[in-house]
Amino acid sequence: MAEEQTAICFIDHQKHMVIDGRYLRDLEPATRNLIKSEYPSAKVTDFICDHDLLKYQLMRVDGMVKSDVKQTRKINRRLTRAMQSDDYEIVDVNENLERTLTMGQRISDAVARFGGSWGFIGIFTSVLIAWMFVNGASLFGIHFDPFPFILLNLGLSCIAAIQAPIIMMSQNRAADRDRMNSENDYHVNLKSEHELRILHAKLDNLTQNQLPHTLEIQKLEIEILGQIRNELDELHREKAGQFSNDQQDGEKDEKETSDQ
Ligand SMILES: [Zn+2]
Repeated sequence: MAEEQTAICFIDHQKHMVIDGRYLRDLEPATRNLIKSEYPSAKVTDFICDHDLLKYQLMRVDGMVKSDVKQTRKINRRLTRAMQSDDYEIVDVNENLERTLTMGQRISDAVARFGGSWGFIGIFTSVLIAWMFVNGASLFGIHFDPFPFILLNLGLSCIAAIQAPIIMMSQNRAADRDRMNSENDYHVNLKSEHELRILHAKLDNLTQNQLPHTLEIQKLEIEILGQIRNELDELHREKAGQFSNDQQDGEKDEKETSDQ
């Protein structure tokens, strides 16, 4: 039974208690590969003591931290580049249009605004009815435009002919505004999509690489703490052994050489 509890470390070739080390088959594949890269002849049935294992565990932690930092830097660089590459300045549509407005355009806007209101319809209808009533009924002896109101028709045609291009001018400006707005929207959407894609990559990196690495590092920390505890226990045992002055002097010497 005592034979089973000890094993030879394949690195320092010392005899250790099995509890003071691990067999390679029990290690994480990544740590095992690290050891195998330095000792290609190592087999999964080989034993490694905690003291030698610690070096590879620290190397593994270091490797994970370095790869995470590298990956994060890479993504951050991409994000910075994406932000710098898009030098499109969002146009303030209202301010831009207001600044370039000519007097004619202001008037066309005002006319279009008034022509497209209920107020205009009300006033216009009242004038028409009054005109027809006055001329039709020959009220006060006035009938400058008798039925069928040819002068009124002429007037209406003139108003329609002038009003149509004025409204079109105003509509053209509305179309300009829409065009600027859609240009703004297009650039903002493009930029957002690009940034979103990079943020997605960042999130993927966080969940797929950094989080598993963090958990693995925690696991390694717990293992290292366990090793420290074992060594402390061993020290306590040695001290107790000194006081009781028993016959295990030879074994004690072995442990001390392995601790060095
Ligand atoms: Zn060893």
